Amino acid sequence: MFNSLSDRLTATFKNLRGKGRLSEADVDATVREIRRALLDADVAVSVVREFTSRIRERALGAEVSGALNPSQQIVKIVNEELVEILGGETRRIRLAKTGPTIIMLAGLQGAGKTTLAGKLSKWLKAQGHSPMLVACDLQRPNAVTQLQVVGQRAGVPVFAPHPGATSELDHPAGDPVAVASAGVEEARQKLHDVVIVDTAGRLGVDAEMMDQARRIRQAIIPNEVLFVIDSMIGQDAVNTAMAFDEGVNFTGIVLSKLDGDARGGAALSVASVTGKPVMFASTGEGLDDFELFHPDRMASRILDMGDVLTLIEQAEKAWDKDEAARMAKKFADQEDFTLDDFLAQMQQIRNMGSMKKMLMMMPGAQNIRQQLENFDEREIDRVEAIVRSMTPHERVAPKIINGSRRARIAKGSGVHVSEVNGLLERFAQAQKMMKKMAQGGMPGMPGMPGM
Ligand code: GDP
Repeated sequence: MFNSLSDRLTATFKNLRGKGRLSEADVDATVREIRRALLDADVAVSVVREFTSRIRERALGAEVSGALNPSQQIVKIVNEELVEILGGETRRIRLAKTGPTIIMLAGLQGAGKTTLAGKLSKWLKAQGHSPMLVACDLQRPNAVTQLQVVGQRAGVPVFAPHPGATSELDHPAGDPVAVASAGVEEARQKLHDVVIVDTAGRLGVDAEMMDQARRIRQAIIPNEVLFVIDSMIGQDAVNTAMAFDEGVNFTGIVLSKLDGDARGGAALSVASVTGKPVMFASTGEGLDDFELFHPDRMASRILDMGDVLTLIEQAEKAWDKDEAARMAKKFADQEDFTLDDFLAQMQQIRNMGSMKKMLMMMPGAQNIRQQLENFDEREIDRVEAIVRSMTPHERVAPKIINGSRRARIAKGSGVHVSEVNGLLERFAQAQKMMKKMAQGGMPGMPGMPGM
């Protein structure tokens, strides 16, 4: 699932590697690639449009984060937007406070509802619940038998109308709404804590089916209404989802058949157009081919960059945003870069020290790799000691630091004068570079404004 989308996006990000800063043209080219990849994956046009325009806007306004290079920034933005589209946080089943938790399944015929009923009940049972299934699909021949087979395999009881029975009470055989209500009542009496109600679907959206589903919903007042959708139905997914959302106002989505060679677009579209979360994924015909859906994990699977995303997160955490913003403002105001700033920068790098090893493994970390390799944490302590031995005036105007001042500073910080000299030399180089950057251009990177 999502394989080709994943390949395409990864290739797009690869093209950005090594770029110092993204121009508007770079961003546009990237967004265009993302748009094509999504459309080819069958994501609905309206969703693609909204998604890419958000990516573009955020990439251009880029949250300048000193910790990330441009390609990592785009990966981060795309990842966050993907998670958002897939429903944000992992959404679990809302259990009823009293009485059984009622879960109603809705969706087209063949979507995978009956199979899901088995999977879900087996999964719930493994967690210590005692689910019961209710067969309300009286439309499709064999649907009731199919649910009974599934129930048997999952080891859970199935409430089903008895064909041929006559009394109103024990077989509301012809009326799915009555079967649903009777099933829930039975679950309540037999103290099942979860009851899963399977309903009838049709091949296409159909007013009568929707009306029936709506009446069942009104009769049993479920805690969750799960809309099951076949991931392979492509662009039709959006219309189907909207019709069901309007008809039964479902509370969550189940993507079935994610194991197929589905291009995955349905998954992204359905959650986005309905604003409802994807809660489960069905990935095969077996009862165990089923998982709780985690939007964040799915997004990183799509981006095929799980490790990189973790690194991005950690780098961001270590990076002090206030300090970075302070430096950016300094550049903008063309203020002098002082020894205090120098020290602050070193400390920033120290914050990232714990990640040194991990960062070294990172693709695209070439920019900082050299710095990291040469980096000795003890060095920062020495720098700090030296800077702290300077007067405030010396820190902002290091030019006045003559021979006797150097000797005093060396003595105060317990280092050799040559180390003070070395520090002042490195500082002078850094200051020169900062000045160049502030004037709008890093050496070798024409047109790069500010940081
Ligand atoms: P319903 O009409 O909505 O109840 O759909 P069913 O549960 O009867 O499923 C229709 C067909 O899809 C059956 O042949 C199932 O075995 C198959 N199916 C259901 N879920 C999955 C899935 O996640 N992956 C695959 N490959 N097949 C599935």
